[in-house]
Amino acid sequence: MVVTTTQTGLPLFVLGQGRDPHSERGVECPGELPAASDPGLVARARAAKAALGDRLFVLGHHYQRDEVIQFADVTGDSFKLAREAAARPHAEYIVFCGVHFMAESADILTSDDQRVVLPDLAAGCSMADMATFDQVEECWEALEDAGIADDVVPITYMNSSADIKAFCGRNGGAVCTSSNARKALEWAFQRGRKVLFLPDQHLGRNTAVLEMDMGLDDCVVYNPHRPNGGLTAQQLADAKMILWRGHCSVHGRFTPECVDDVRQRIPGVNVLVHPECRHEVVTKADHVGSTEYIIRKLREAPAGSAWAIGTELNLVKRLAQEFPDKQITFLDRTVCYCSTMNRIDLPHLVWALESLAAGQVVNQITVDADTAHWAKVALDRMLALP
Ligand code: SF4
Repeated sequence: MVVTTTQTGLPLFVLGQGRDPHSERGVECPGELPAASDPGLVARARAAKAALGDRLFVLGHHYQRDEVIQFADVTGDSFKLAREAAARPHAEYIVFCGVHFMAESADILTSDDQRVVLPDLAAGCSMADMATFDQVEECWEALEDAGIADDVVPITYMNSSADIKAFCGRNGGAVCTSSNARKALEWAFQRGRKVLFLPDQHLGRNTAVLEMDMGLDDCVVYNPHRPNGGLTAQQLADAKMILWRGHCSVHGRFTPECVDDVRQRIPGVNVLVHPECRHEVVTKADHVGSTEYIIRKLREAPAGSAWAIGTELNLVKRLAQEFPDKQITFLDRTVCYCSTMNRIDLPHLVWALESLAAGQVVNQITVDADTAHWAKVALDRMLALP
């Protein structure tokens, strides 16, 4: 087996080979996949879906490919999809066309007799993989050694593993999404003097600085690959926001130069980006918001207006098709798909649906009871936010 080691310290498997159930990626498909060239794939997916009827509910994340999203019963961001799954107590099978942490959240929020299936187990999230449970425990010990752990409330972005959500639940913290990060931080600062924000440093920094009047010097970055995160006790004592050194490999690609470039190419363009983008990009943009915000903003935009969008390319392409009266451009000049999300393709979906129709549950995602309990505590704290 060919394995290389990434910057995160996790093994990176050659696509489709190897197996690591503790990672968000690099897990092979245990079944016989239909060929991608099979002209009958669409008909096979339709037939399997029809055979399963109301026993099946298919969720499709906004960043999925068109060939998959056409079979989704509902589309949305990770939070909306988890809630949709929870609102379908009669569906025996929830097929989640998204990534691993989303399927985990669906399993946590659905009943024990519902099965959540991820068509390709290699569909992980590089951001979620940047914060492992052991690393976060080690960080907490560093905060205890620095004598500040009692002042710190941990907040994790939805894009994290169930382990990390459970860590936040156990330690008085909560989950947040890109839509409610500010409310979650306000909630946290009513309970402590500092926040440990996991795993996306950009969402944490952008929310603190742009929405909560904090300065960049109120934020420090904890690097899990360096002793004590690469921070001194004084730096930890002075900081209000301790940002985990994680990022999204898709949104992290946009640069300030992309913004300058598109403004030159398209005079009068509105630049609209996701808060997972770097701070230097977000401060150059005209509008910043979650995926659902981006969709709403474009829906409400006047005909003839021009938009450059900084988020995943599958979604941007679909929005351009959906709103042909507006000029919608991708912010970068190069291709920028979420490669792990794109692991869910039609052959994997057909294989998963046909297996379920034949009575065989494949690629089931389960979270153990203790982890699920504490992760739900953190999720429920988020749901209770005003
Ligand atoms: S777009 Fe970024 S955060 Fe979302 S699943 Fe892909 S790598 Fe993870």
